Amino acid sequence: MSAAGAEPVLQVAIDAKVYRSKGAEPVEAVRNLAFGVEAGEIVCLIGPSGAGKTTTLRILLGLDPDFEGRVSGADQAGMVFQEPRLLPWRSVEHNVRLGLPRARRGRDLDTLFTRLGLTPWRSSYPKALSLGMQRRVALARALADDPRVLVLDEPFVSLDDAAAAELRGLVVDTVDSAGMSVLMVTHNVAEAIGIADRLLLVSKRPATLMADVPLDRPRGQRDRAWAEATRAALAAQHPGIIAE
Ligand code: ADP
Ligand code: MG
Repeated sequence: MSAAGAEPVLQVAIDAKVYRSKGAEPVEAVRNLAFGVEAGEIVCLIGPSGAGKTTTLRILLGLDPDFEGRVSGADQAGMVFQEPRLLPWRSVEHNVRLGLPRARRGRDLDTLFTRLGLTPWRSSYPKALSLGMQRRVALARALADDPRVLVLDEPFVSLDDAAAAELRGLVVDTVDSAGMSVLMVTHNVAEAIGIADRLLLVSKRPATLMADVPLDRPRGQRDRAWAEATRAALAAQHPGIIAE
């Protein structure tokens, strides 16, 4: 949590987002969704598939200017998309350096590669890597320019439990040691309960903020019983968002 009075690193206030394409009905994707992310905080945004979560991330990153409302902090953010989005004809090293502004492309990234276990793969090409390793490369690219907030869109889907847990651990360790914030979209409630300081629950489309739930227990003290009780309480209060 940041000191009292400090500005959040990320602020989002989307009044409305409607996709309009020729010959198709307008699709209202987001309505009244406002939140901030404080320095050092891990926030998980949870909501049904098709709710408007990715739309929200694209807006807050400045990738989609066509909405009503205000966002700030995009310049402080590093992004990991749902798919790794690596250039297949570039090495791991080169893919990561593409996350840097041109003037900083030559900076020393040894510590980052080592921390993420990517040192042996620096000169490999993405297709030689498992999906879990490719996701690490995408994470390294997002971290390369030392962002103040890491924004993750379902970064652990399609990984087996062990690979997901390993990557999750890397994210938590990295942000804890760097004092970085995280905004992570997930529909894995158990995962969110494991790592988040705060949960934001959004409704089905149009994504609307339904609840802002602080999880006060320190991450190191979250056992299975606490996680299960927390999940059951949330499911009882928000049955449309969190399945029993
Ligand atoms: P989520 O990430 O929560 O699964 P999305 O933000 O991807 O949901 O999508 C929300 C809704 O907006 C969905 O109904 C989706 O089909 C629609 N949508 C997403 N992108 C576009 C687009 N470019 N044009 C029209 N509709 C879109
Ligand atoms: Mg999505």
